[in-house]
Amino acid sequence: MRKNGAIIITGGSRGLGQAFVRDALACGHIVATCSRNETAFIRELRAADPDENRFCWRALDITNGAESKKFVKEVARRYGAISGLVNNAGYSDGQLLTMMNEELLQKLLSTNLEALIRITHFVAPYLLREGAGSIINIGSISGKRGFSGMSIYGATKSALDGFSRCLARELGERMVRVNVVAPGLIATEMADATSEVEKQKIIGLTPMGRFGTVADVVGVVRFLLSDDSAFITGQSITVDGGFTC
Ligand code: NDP
Repeated sequence: MRKNGAIIITGGSRGLGQAFVRDALACGHIVATCSRNETAFIRELRAADPDENRFCWRALDITNGAESKKFVKEVARRYGAISGLVNNAGYSDGQLLTMMNEELLQKLLSTNLEALIRITHFVAPYLLREGAGSIINIGSISGKRGFSGMSIYGATKSALDGFSRCLARELGERMVRVNVVAPGLIATEMADATSEVEKQKIIGLTPMGRFGTVADVVGVVRFLLSDDSAFITGQSITVDGGFTC
């Protein structure tokens, strides 16, 4: 993939997104990220590049469509082009469907699915204009197997597979690729939503006998952003130590 133009990584302030941002910058990409809150990691990167030559962050709630559109437009204008999108920002709560109120249900649907589709809708024309690009949607093993407390989250994550496969058909002719990376349980703040009992069950059923690390997922995203994966589109790569095999 070309290194002119920016890669947008949503939710880059912590967890997996933070690692994707760090790695993409190290690979020479220009990176634009967003999250609702600024973290020490973001402050550090902003201080190192005050003119935003290679990195920018904006406070953004991706469930706000108008603000998301403004963010994408601003990134395209500032860096001249957009060359990739990592739809990483997500939310999980571990709540049983029968215990869930309407507000939480909406939050899960809008953060994990609607916002992702909307941002992709805004970014895709810029990638088509370049005649190259990689869209990576961060899915989950919850979209492939059943987990108690993950029904809505799992529904949004399995929806990403269908969305990505169909969009890969639409954009492939113009060399824009769309793939899913579906991690197993990774030790980030989000993993706190999974109960201890569930965590032990997952380890017990994982041939490699451990949780994933952030580093396990970073390399796959790096690969899908790079030209090494130039002929891979419409795929879902599961990174789970064999849990779902
Ligand atoms: P974290 O909770 O550690 O980080 C989530 C990131 O997304 C933060 O930067 C957060 O910033 C941002 N974010 C959340 N909601 C919004 C919003 N409405 N608008 C803008 N930014 C938002 O999550 P992980 O790093 O663990 O997860 C990243 C992705 O990986 C998610 O899509 C998740 O579903 C997926 N995943 C994670 C697994 C795990 O075990 N950790 C397993 C499988 C998949 P802020 O809160 O400041 O907005």
